[in-house]
Amino acid sequence: MTTRPVIAISSCIMGQPVRYDGEIKHYPELCQHLQTYFECLPVCPETEIGLSVPRPAVQLSGDPAQPRMTGRDDPSIDISDLMRNYCKTKIVSLTHISAYVFKSRSPSCGPNNIPVFNNHQIIADNNRGLFAETVISTYPDLPVADEITLTHQAERDIFIQQVLDYYAKQTL
Ligand code: SF4
Repeated sequence: MTTRPVIAISSCIMGQPVRYDGEIKHYPELCQHLQTYFECLPVCPETEIGLSVPRPAVQLSGDPAQPRMTGRDDPSIDISDLMRNYCKTKIVSLTHISAYVFKSRSPSCGPNNIPVFNNHQIIADNNRGLFAETVISTYPDLPVADEITLTHQAERDIFIQQVLDYYAKQTL
């Protein structure tokens, strides 16, 4: 049984081969640093709903307030319902986590500034990735960050302290 905080982290940040393009984008220094404090729980919404590696890229589209998840190059691909159903079931398995480290710029995992495209492939607005939105709206006090923010040592130190404080409250 773990006695350290568990943090969820986008699987691709940990170097798992789950990205849509089949490439590995690992952040070993960040992961090793986080693992000195925390148990890291990798989560990849897109492969967990059954998508392959590689796979067609997806994007957010339609109503910026309620975006759909559709193919970037093939608009006939629409995995919105699949992803929203996943969000509903997955989120209840994450009640124990003390933070989430998201992959930036992902229509599934990006915690902010994810473009939502209109029918003309023009950015209509920005929102969160669909799974990130579920996590953040369900657990609004949960410490969250992305891999870009955590490249800065000062931001990383602040995040680690936020997680330890959150964990302390969870274990009162
Ligand atoms: S950004 Fe999220 S959905 Fe995309 S590969 Fe990484 S973990 Fe999977």
